[in-house]
Amino acid sequence: MTRELIPGARADVDTDLFTYRSLLDDTEVELLGGLRDWLEEHLAPVVDDHWARAEFPHDLIPKVAGLDIMGLALDMSERPARRRLLSGFVGLEIARIDASFASFYGVHSGLAMGSIHQCGSDEQRERWLPAMRRLDKIGAFGLTEPHGGSDVAGGLETTARRDGDEWVIDGAKRWIGNGTFADLIVVWARDVADDQVKAFVVEKDMPGFAATKMENKLALRITQNADLTFDGVRVPEANRLQNANSFNDTNAVLRSTRGSVAWSAVGVMTGVYEVVVQYAKDRIQFGRPIAGFQLIQDHLATILANLSAALGMAARGSQLQDEGVFRDEQGALVKSFCTTRLRESVALAREVMGGNGILLEYGMARFFNDAEALYSYEGTREINTLIVGRSITGESAFT
Ligand code: FAD
Repeated sequence: MTRELIPGARADVDTDLFTYRSLLDDTEVELLGGLRDWLEEHLAPVVDDHWARAEFPHDLIPKVAGLDIMGLALDMSERPARRRLLSGFVGLEIARIDASFASFYGVHSGLAMGSIHQCGSDEQRERWLPAMRRLDKIGAFGLTEPHGGSDVAGGLETTARRDGDEWVIDGAKRWIGNGTFADLIVVWARDVADDQVKAFVVEKDMPGFAATKMENKLALRITQNADLTFDGVRVPEANRLQNANSFNDTNAVLRSTRGSVAWSAVGVMTGVYEVVVQYAKDRIQFGRPIAGFQLIQDHLATILANLSAALGMAARGSQLQDEGVFRDEQGALVKSFCTTRLRESVALAREVMGGNGILLEYGMARFFNDAEALYSYEGTREINTLIVGRSITGESAFT
């Protein structure tokens, strides 16, 4: 018995067993349907090639702008906010095709636009957000430093010194997504006068600013992560986000975007599940599809359980955000839970696909590698667990 094994083929399979999409209204379902069609037509055909070359598909930026999905959950003068639940499903749809493009969306639309929306004055929102919504200006978010990853809260080395109507920024940032081509970078720096963390919008052509692409990355290869340096960069006071006064404000941005990383994990798991089910049906061993073996079905059921649990937690987290009652420990738990379930799922799916699981064209290897970055960024599993542990016990166990 022979069956055609089509590399990367996906099963048309139920990925929403507990019907979370029924929480969406007709206009939201329509938006997601249009997005899925766009992603399958424009993004899916180019991702493997760009991943292999570690290049970002810049030509897609004006095209994706037409979908008007940037900053979807932010209230703007020209467009009222849509639900977090909807923007979560948007992230799922993008990550179902590619986690790097979802990261581009998350950094620009969530971290950068979200920081400006949350911490900027009315004038600053008006100045930057409409152009960012149209993708005329691309954003990045600069928090992590060469010496400051998990303990960045207490250890920011990048400094800001007030000089008249300007601030002078000195220091370095590492791992900054979209960093090589962003027009605006929200840079978090320590004010030397009061030791508090503040946020500054650095524009790419400001003298003393430089961005260098990080090479040889084996996850999210399409995402352009950069080392940024600030050598006496002079930033006008008008570019200091007026309502960012301490790390608590940074944390408020991260609480919200951790929910978005969870949606990316759900999206990747959705893609993983579609690919692995089709593969199991088409791959013949011992004279029958491997889908007929009990041990393979165990793996498929585990992946579906992980996907279902993660989707449920992400959806409920977004509803709590929409209600304005989302807490730090919920953001930490949804991020760490969903990415941990992703990591297990993609390893099982890779296993089901044997050797083909590590070939790019079979549609699993990219997901497999990309999962590692989702697991570690925006707070590693350990750090998010410590946030949850502090909430359970009232004891901080970070040091
Ligand atoms: P470290 O902090 O050095 O941690 C190493 C290990 O030690 C981890 O397992 C960690 O959990 C563990 N650890 C540390 N402290 C403790 C503790 N107290 N108890 C137990 N274990 C501990 N940053 C940005 O600002 N902007 C971006 O756009 C951005 N994009 C990124 C994209 C990618 C692909 C990646 C990989 C990272 C990105 N980051 C970005 C940085 C990211 O947020 C950090 O990598 C992350 O916070 C972890 O920091 P670290 O890599 O320095 O690890």
